[in-house]
Amino acid sequence: MSQKKLVWLPGIFLFLFLILGFCDLAFAEGGVSRALLKSGAAIGAILGIVGISIAGYYAGKSYDSYTGWERYTHGAAMFFNRKPFRKDKPTYGVTDKTRRVNWEENINGRLGTLMHLMMPPDGSPPKWLPDKGPGALPEPYKSFFLEHDEKYKLTLEAFRLIKKQQEEWPKYADRYAIIDAWSNALGSIFEDWQGHPWAETAMYPPEPQGPPEEWDFRGIHREKPLEFRSPDHAAQLIKKITHSFGATLVGITKLNPDWCYQGHLRGVGEGPWEVPKHWEYAIVFATTHEWDMFYVNPNYGTSFDAYSYCRIIAGRLEAFIHELGYPARSHVPPYYYDLMMPPIAIDAGLGQQGRTGLCITPETGGNARLACVTTNIPMTVDKPIDFGVQEFCRKCRICAEECPTGAIPHADEPGVVYGYKRWKIKDELCFNTWASIAGSKIGRGCRICLAVCPYSRKNNWLHSLSRQIDPRDPTDTVSSMLLWMQKAFFKYPKARDFLPPTNKTYHEPPDWLKTEEWFNVKKTW
Ligand code: SF4
Ligand code: SF4
Repeated sequence: MSQKKLVWLPGIFLFLFLILGFCDLAFAEGGVSRALLKSGAAIGAILGIVGISIAGYYAGKSYDSYTGWERYTHGAAMFFNRKPFRKDKPTYGVTDKTRRVNWEENINGRLGTLMHLMMPPDGSPPKWLPDKGPGALPEPYKSFFLEHDEKYKLTLEAFRLIKKQQEEWPKYADRYAIIDAWSNALGSIFEDWQGHPWAETAMYPPEPQGPPEEWDFRGIHREKPLEFRSPDHAAQLIKKITHSFGATLVGITKLNPDWCYQGHLRGVGEGPWEVPKHWEYAIVFATTHEWDMFYVNPNYGTSFDAYSYCRIIAGRLEAFIHELGYPARSHVPPYYYDLMMPPIAIDAGLGQQGRTGLCITPETGGNARLACVTTNIPMTVDKPIDFGVQEFCRKCRICAEECPTGAIPHADEPGVVYGYKRWKIKDELCFNTWASIAGSKIGRGCRICLAVCPYSRKNNWLHSLSRQIDPRDPTDTVSSMLLWMQKAFFKYPKARDFLPPTNKTYHEPPDWLKTEEWFNVKKTW
């Protein structure tokens, strides 16, 4: 019997007990009937106590009653039953001309390289500056920017905006002191205190130092791997352990080599590389942002909370797998990846691709930051799911309307990118928003599109019910109604107003993020 049914048991027994007790009073002067009713009341009382004990036992075993670690560490936050929505193939379309993505086609890849050239981490003089033009860049960046002049111009614009943001920071430093400190504290796992994102000594898990054939096997002390009883056992245990390390959602998929960047490999550097044979499987997981903060993006927001949790989980999982005798490598935010995360999460059935290009999950919508560990443990894999995101996105467009720089496509249909049908944002326009947000000195992102997404709503009873009913409605009536409610009852600032000087947020900041509530600062905002 399910725990939910058992919860009703004490109620039924108590009801019986009260009825019998009532009858007992009503027939107080009766003879035989009085004796019978007295015995009935006694039995009712005993059954009531037994019922309460049973229900109490099961309620005590429920993760909802835990007061220590939260529900996600036992997987209870992954409550959506994916089984009815499993599909043999992911819902993104595939053409016959797919290919791996070059590292310089990734905005983090090319921006990171340019920044290293302008500000070498070893403190040496710049190796390139914008006034030298794209022709002076090393290959393949030179060819890339000569071919994509618009991207080059937008990259220069980003540098201008970053400089402006840093110059204007003193104006905002008091107002955003708490969110900046909170973000720095969480980011200290992979940045130094000045926010330089290449503080290798601070990194956990450490960045690879050497090819995957060496680095991914480091620390293995067994002569041969511990053999699982079956791929099912392996998948179940690995998922349980990943949840126990803090992951909200976990899935497993075979790794499609197309999701691995070409042209750059951590621990090896630039150049072509084959996908290592032991990267057979990806254990992909998601963590969420802290809710109060998530709701007040972008100016009181940060990505570093979810990022730092992702890194801790990945580092623990990597070490656990090494302990079992298998190779493992973490691929973690903000940009310490050798592969693309959203399609891997989609292949593993964590969610579906939405208009933002990100993986939208049934439990937490776009509030799902991703990381993965690649390994060769033979595991049963998860199938992709279809719970109606693409149809919903066609009608919705809220993220596209709210994006301050218009980075998100409005088109009904996804385009074709690297041979795959998908919606793709304009990376540079997105980065230019990051470079303009006032809430931190160094542009810690935007996340408006995650926060405003109807799928990202909190899991109260109404939203939890909607999450279950909408994907089962073949008429699309429920989604149309939900969308109408979302647009009618939620107020959205104008997209441009998220940026300086207006600095709007999606919702009002909570007290704990307001500097003026806690410190003696002169409030000028
Ligand atoms: S993060 Fe902000 S700028 Fe980037 S796509 Fe989302 S809403 Fe647009
Ligand atoms: S905001 Fe709307 S259009 Fe954008 S990803 Fe979410 S559901 Fe899709």
